[in-house]
Amino acid sequence: MKANVWHGRNDMRVENVPDPRILNPRDAIVKITSSAICGSDLHLYDGYVPTMEAGDILGHEFMGEVVETGPAVRNLKAGDRVVVPFTIACGGCFFCEQQQHSLCENSNPNAWMAEKMWGHSPAGIFGYSHLTGGYAGGQAQYARVPYADTGPLKIEDGLDDEQVLFLSDVLPTGWMAAENCHIQPGDTVAIWGCGPVGQFAIQSAYLLGAERVIAIDRFPDRLQMASDWSRAEALDYTACDVADTLREMTGGRGPDACIDAVGMEAHGAGPMAAVDRIKQMMRLESDRPMVLRQVLRACRNGGTVSVPGVYGGFVDKLPFGALMNRSLTLKTGQTHVQRYMQPLLERIRRGDFDPGRLVTHRKRLDDAPDAYRMFRDKQDGCVKVVLKPWVH
Ligand SMILES: [Zn+2]
Ligand SMILES: [Zn+2]
Repeated sequence: MKANVWHGRNDMRVENVPDPRILNPRDAIVKITSSAICGSDLHLYDGYVPTMEAGDILGHEFMGEVVETGPAVRNLKAGDRVVVPFTIACGGCFFCEQQQHSLCENSNPNAWMAEKMWGHSPAGIFGYSHLTGGYAGGQAQYARVPYADTGPLKIEDGLDDEQVLFLSDVLPTGWMAAENCHIQPGDTVAIWGCGPVGQFAIQSAYLLGAERVIAIDRFPDRLQMASDWSRAEALDYTACDVADTLREMTGGRGPDACIDAVGMEAHGAGPMAAVDRIKQMMRLESDRPMVLRQVLRACRNGGTVSVPGVYGGFVDKLPFGALMNRSLTLKTGQTHVQRYMQPLLERIRRGDFDPGRLVTHRKRLDDAPDAYRMFRDKQDGCVKVVLKPWVH
C-alpha cells in the first residue's frame, strides 16, 4: 500500500510499504477513505518530537471502511464505515472504565520510554512517535486498528466523510478544552490559536454557556473564520497588546477561562521568545511556551486555564507563581476521544456543529509532502487538509 512516511525533519515521502495485517484478535484492518493532517503533526514534521524513526507512518485523524476483523471483533464487519479515535484504548482498564481513554494502561507497548520521560505512560496514539507506542498511522491506504471492538465509531447514516472525520480528534479536542473550563453562564472565555481545535473550542464554549468568546491569532484567514463561522470576537496579537486588550474587554478582571490551543511551537515577539527559539533549536528546551506564559498571566484570579495544545517535554520560565498565588485551576490532557465521539455525532446530526466547513484543502495522498509544507506555512488560507488515499 501507499503511505506517508517520516524520514526526518521536513522530510516526508509517500512510499510503498507492506500492507498491515491482523496481529491480535481484537484488531481490524480499515481501508482509509479520508485522513487529515493535524496541527500536532507539524511538531513531528518540524522534528520536535523525540523517538521518531525513519520509516514511521504518520497520521492519526482517519476514517474508512472495515475490510477485515480479528476473531474477537463482533461489533464490526467488513463493509462497515468507521471513524477511528486517535487515542488507542483497551476499554477495560482502570482508566478506560473511568472514560479516561487517553490514559489507557494497556495500549502503549513502549510505556517504559514514556515513563522515563514523563514518570508514567499515557495511552498509545496512532502515528505519533515511539514514545506513544510506535503505531503506524492513518495517512495511508490501510491501517491496523487495535481494540477495534471498542474504539471506532460506526457511521450508519449518509453523513459524508468530512462531516464526521473530525470526530477522530479535533472536534472532541476542542470540546474537551471548553468542557475543562467549567463554564458558568455569563462567562468570558479567551482562546489562543484559531486553527481547527481553536475553532471547535470557540463553538463548544458557546454551546456550553459562555457569553463571550475572544479568539487570538495572527493569520487573517483564521481570525476571519473565528469571527464569521465560530462567532468569536477576534484579536490579532500582532496589532494589539493582548494582555492589555483582554483586561480592557473584561472590566479589568481578565477572562474567566483561557485556552491554549497552540502548544509547543508558539510564536511570539520579544527577548523571551527569541531565547525559547534558540534553546529549542539547541535542544536545551523541548517546547516554546510563549502562549502558556501569556495564558497564565491573562486569566482572571480564580479562573481556569485549559491546555489542549500539545507539549512534549520541558518548558522554561513558566510563571508558576501566577498559578499558585492567583488560585488558578489548570486542566489539560490528551483527549479522551472515545468518551465524546457518540455525543458529538449526535450534535453534528442536530446541527450544533458543521465540521465539514473546516476543510479548506483536499489533496491526493501522493501530494502529502506538499500539503504538509502548505499547512505549516499557512499558505493559500490553509486551515485543514484532508488527504484522499484512493484518489489518483
Ligand atoms: Zn490531531
Ligand atoms: Zn484501557
